[in-house]
Amino acid sequence: MSTDSQSPVLVWFRDDHRLSDHPALAAAVATGSRVLCFAVLDDDSDGLRPLGGATRWWLHGSLEALDDALRRTGSGLLVFKGSALSIVGRIAIEAGASAIFWNRRYSAAEIAVDRAIKKHLTDLGIRAHSFNGRLLHEPWTIANQAGKPFQVFTPYLRAVMARPVAAALPPPKRIPGGTWPSALLDAAIPVGALGLEPSSPDWADGMRAEWRRGERAGQEGFERFCRESLRGYADNRDHPSVQGTSRLSPHLRFGEISPRQIWHGVTAEAAREPSLARDAEKYLSEIIWRDFSHQMLHYYPHMPDRPHSSRFDRFPWSEDAKAVRAWQKGRTGYPIVDAGMRQLWQTGWMHNRVRMIAASFLVKHLLTDWRRGEAWFWDTLVDADPANNAFSWQWIAGSGPDSAPFHRIFNPVAQGEKFDPDGDYIRSFVPEIAELPSGFIHKPWDAPPAVLHAAGVRRGETYPDPIVPHGPARERALQAFRSLRSVA
Ligand code: FAD
Repeated sequence: MSTDSQSPVLVWFRDDHRLSDHPALAAAVATGSRVLCFAVLDDDSDGLRPLGGATRWWLHGSLEALDDALRRTGSGLLVFKGSALSIVGRIAIEAGASAIFWNRRYSAAEIAVDRAIKKHLTDLGIRAHSFNGRLLHEPWTIANQAGKPFQVFTPYLRAVMARPVAAALPPPKRIPGGTWPSALLDAAIPVGALGLEPSSPDWADGMRAEWRRGERAGQEGFERFCRESLRGYADNRDHPSVQGTSRLSPHLRFGEISPRQIWHGVTAEAAREPSLARDAEKYLSEIIWRDFSHQMLHYYPHMPDRPHSSRFDRFPWSEDAKAVRAWQKGRTGYPIVDAGMRQLWQTGWMHNRVRMIAASFLVKHLLTDWRRGEAWFWDTLVDADPANNAFSWQWIAGSGPDSAPFHRIFNPVAQGEKFDPDGDYIRSFVPEIAELPSGFIHKPWDAPPAVLHAAGVRRGETYPDPIVPHGPARERALQAFRSLRSVA
């Protein structure tokens, strides 16, 4: 790729906050030109969804860590705020850039922004080069025999498993940085002044205690997972009280580690130690779910806004604001649901099994439109991801492609007893019932008065009774679902 070596080239970082396996950065460095790096906090472009509170908090630390890593390598990061559509062209012109490099994004609004910017820059004689830095395989590279996107996960998984994954790139040893023109230095905003971290009130203490943000934390987290939790992953991943999953989701969300690095790292572990094969395969299948969600978002851009199956357009959702509030606050009276919702509120993350139980409860027990839940998760998850979140909510609601059927309704008590048998997870997040014996921790309402008394639990006072009874709520949900068929 040749460029005028007098003019700098730009690298625009977007949810790919790392130096290793960063194809756009590697290609920019390979030009031999000076490399200027920037990011844009864009809450203004038409159709782009503003980040939620928890991802804004993560972004702050992620940008700081990226700036730090770039500085140590000879460059640095300038951050701008505003509509990328209107400012990226200006940045390129004022920097006198010959080319701009970025890794691709996959939602319709992001693609529209990128296309418009690319055209604008090309008209100005500035070349724009884009790369795959986010996925194992881009959506249009995996198709079924008819050349169409897969609608069902299992054949998609098989197709991916049969393909080689491109090698992960090493980080550049040195980035030949340059000086930004003063007008751009003046226009840039220090990360601390972007207002990404909450101040009054500062609700981020729990997240700060739980997470380290940035590439180094992501890479170390992955190494720790390979060392400590990959063995046993296939069995442990469903148990929320066990450190059985990788907790890499926010790092993947912000591109602090790439799926290719994970793929090759896990594959190497399994090659070195064949007894890890089953766990490695299961783990890689989750990474492939992530690609599959992105493929779905790419081909069906309405995924976050509209049921994929149009018959769900007529679903008789209920609007019980009080019940939704109880769900958000972790006060439904179902301990496993409440523990999950409180874990989310305190730490910005919830275990996958509990996400499924809590989401199913909102949609089916409370008959609440899945978009209400999607929006709450969007605001509170540190890993809130346009593809994974929307696709997972539609999966739970039964309205997505290759979804769980609507009539599969989780019983929150049975799920709790199965996946948190001793109640350890519940005890960590619902302290007011922590002293209950395991036999009653999933259903405090069944405990005899003496047991409740000994555990310091006063039903309806220290801990609520269930806001809806399981059996009738289940029947109501099935009835609502049947009503769709009767009007079809
Ligand atoms: P691990 O089990 O260690 O998996 C490794 C990685 O694989 C994850 O980090 C993630 O990137 C990917 N992955 C795992 N499960 C899934 C899945 N079901 N779909 C797509 N990718 C997956 N995940 C998000 O990253 N962002 C979201 O906004 C999100 N919202 C969800 C909403 C609901 C209602 C549900 C049921 C699931 C949602 N998930 C979401 C998927 C999943 O719960 C998380 O990816 C997982 O819990 C993250 O923890 P982990 O990194 O320890 O996962």
